Amino acid sequence: MTDNGDSTTHLLQGRGLVKAYGRTEALRGASAWLDAGEILAVTGTSGSGKSTLLHCLAGIVRPDTGSVSYGGERLDQLSEKRLSELRRTEFGVVFQFGQLIPELTALDNVALPLLLAGASRTESHARAGEWLERFGVRGQAGLRPGEMSGGQAQRIALARALITGPKVVFADEPTGALDSLASEQVMTVLVHTARESGTAVLLITHDAQVAAYADREVRMDDGAVLPAEVAA
Ligand code: ADP
Repeated sequence: MTDNGDSTTHLLQGRGLVKAYGRTEALRGASAWLDAGEILAVTGTSGSGKSTLLHCLAGIVRPDTGSVSYGGERLDQLSEKRLSELRRTEFGVVFQFGQLIPELTALDNVALPLLLAGASRTESHARAGEWLERFGVRGQAGLRPGEMSGGQAQRIALARALITGPKVVFADEPTGALDSLASEQVMTVLVHTARESGTAVLLITHDAQVAAYADREVRMDDGAVLPAEVAA
């Protein structure tokens, strides 16, 4: 595999991505790739295009130009139907504030992706319970998001993202709202679980301590990913 990302064997690869919101060019030719099981940190100043890159690579936003390939498919050209199926089965997403459903208990939040995929309530709850246990938040199973700490809510959000066995987890500042101890706990469970299950992680962070958990780090500036020698 080449160092410059030209190989076609990468699990996920975005090339020359351009995305404008009105007159703001969020991405100006950004390229990045992710290999199976790899943990990649994307760093850079606020407004440099990190979230937009994640949204394009996760098939949440279509780039104006450029390509996104995932396992041989061009995400930027897929129908909405196929794209949402792919997002549901292959990808997991975690945001800064977890975005758990406030009306549901932790157990129901984590069970939801399985229920949506057609599993029975009993099976979904049993598996959700196992995932809460694994992430050290079994005791919070009956609580709603407003009744728990930020760190607990993020661990529950991670459990929800991982319960379907995705190939890639996209995490946008998953520890951005947490203190350093809670950040460490969230990163430890994320990295441990990803390694165990061979899940690749694309992790956006502004925190060098969080980026240090990754196998590789790339930096963004002004809508582009800096070449490795610049980022080093
Ligand atoms: P980062 O994640 O590095 O902070 P973003 O990708 O969120 O950067 O944003 C890059 C630029 O694009 C910023 O100037 C931001 O204001 C703009 N932007 C991002 N998303 C939108 C949107 N949905 N609508 C309008 N502008 C946006």
